[in-house]
Amino acid sequence: MGLGLSLLGGCPSIVSRASWGARASRSNSYLPSQPVHWVFIHHGESSACHSQSQCAGIVRSYQNYHMDSHGWSDIGYSFLVGEDGNAYEGRGWDRIGAHTVGYNSKAVAICLIGSFDSVVPNAAALNTVKRLIQCGIDKGKISKDYVLRGHRDVNQTSCPGDALYKLIRTWPHY
Ligand SMILES: [Zn+2]
Repeated sequence: MGLGLSLLGGCPSIVSRASWGARASRSNSYLPSQPVHWVFIHHGESSACHSQSQCAGIVRSYQNYHMDSHGWSDIGYSFLVGEDGNAYEGRGWDRIGAHTVGYNSKAVAICLIGSFDSVVPNAAALNTVKRLIQCGIDKGKISKDYVLRGHRDVNQTSCPGDALYKLIRTWPHY
């Protein structure tokens, strides 16, 4: 595909809340201190998606579930990443999320759209996760010496799925 170096650096394409059709948040609280030290990886336990319209629909369904079933103020994750290669803005870099009990006010959480118990996300999604983390470092939102973990490392859950969990344990900063 001839990926140039220019494509590998910098921030990935981030689909704004307006572009995926987000509902308004019911309240905002902001991270007390930045850059944050922790980056958590999650999966959404849904079907995967391979186009922006498909991924946007799944992100809206996650938001509805979080707001209507959990009663949260907004979608829980900071960002979501689809196999279309896009990142989707959840609570973004600056707002406290609802994703990792005990760490919400000191972490950025990235959710891979899909279920990754037996397969890993495709290369487009994985590359976007890595670029998003680097983007956060470049913007001063994530510490240069951040610690990467999977949700299951700190909470009682199978998230982010066996296959994805095994993979991120091989990544830098894990
Ligand atoms: Zn999780």
